Amino acid sequence: MLPMEQIEAVVIGAGVVGLAVGRALALAGREVLVVESENAIGTGTSSRNSEVIHAGIYYPAGSLKARLCVQGKQMLYAYCAERGVAHRQLGKLIVATSPEQVLALDGIMAKAAANGTPRNAHLFSTSLVTLVILMNSSRTMASMFEFLILLTTAISLVIYFGCAAAAFRLIQTGILKVGAGFKVILLLAAIYSCWTIYGAGTEALLWGIALLLAGFPVFWLLRLARGSKAAT
Ligand SMILES: Cc1cc2nc3c(=O)[nH]c(=O)nc-3n(C[C@H](O)[C@H](O)[C@H](O)COP(=O)(O)OP(=O)(O)OC[C@H]3O[C@@H](n4cnc5c(N)ncnc54)[C@H](O)[C@@H]3O)c2cc1C
Repeated sequence: MLPMEQIEAVVIGAGVVGLAVGRALALAGREVLVVESENAIGTGTSSRNSEVIHAGIYYPAGSLKARLCVQGKQMLYAYCAERGVAHRQLGKLIVATSPEQVLALDGIMAKAAANGTPRNAHLFSTSLVTLVILMNSSRTMASMFEFLILLTTAISLVIYFGCAAAAFRLIQTGILKVGAGFKVILLLAAIYSCWTIYGAGTEALLWGIALLLAGFPVFWLLRLARGSKAAT
């Protein structure tokens, strides 16, 4: 090792960027010193982020950000697979909570497509909706709208009820520790969802359950496909 005053490169900050730069310089045969003001490496933003491997969904196609993000994602997945670093490719659920956000979804889809992000779930759900509409095409327009609203309500409330039931189970097993107020809210949520599912009617509920079940084979197929991709 060279004496301090003859170090060839100094990297300030041992976050993920500093460490990667230091590693690249060292691999290129440079004598490198990485300096860090904290007591340990990687204690800044790099260990406090959301731990998401971004797919470049929001970046304009062809921009430097999009290109680096997509390339970096592929390199990171390959690195993790090669070194046995635990990671999971879970996909992303983008939820629009206002009319403006619903309108923005199309733009996000276009960017995701241009950046090569898989859109299987979106394409599958759109096909299912089309199928449901075709299978109910004998209804009048008003009755179709009513049916779709009841169906959407039934599906979301089944999930809503499932979340409340799961929370109760977590409380029972001691994993989730909450106060009495939270338990009352959970109970009200469970009662509300049961009442609304009942109000939506048997037909909407059965269609809803059928649609939810239809998603499971696709989910497992995608998991299998990802598993075999990670293994190669
Ligand atoms: C809330 C949040 C969520 C995020 N989520 C994600 C995500 O899900 N996925 C993703 O890919 N990215 C995410 N990011 C971005 C990502 O975390 C950062 O881009 C990345 O960690 C930056 O790394 P860095 O090495 O540049 O900075 P840092 O990790 O902050 O490292 C800088 C280091 O330099 C040290 N330092 C600073 N000044 C000096 C000095 N003068 N002398 C010596 N040492 C010094 C600091 O102590 C620190 O350790 C997120 C960022 C934030 C803020």
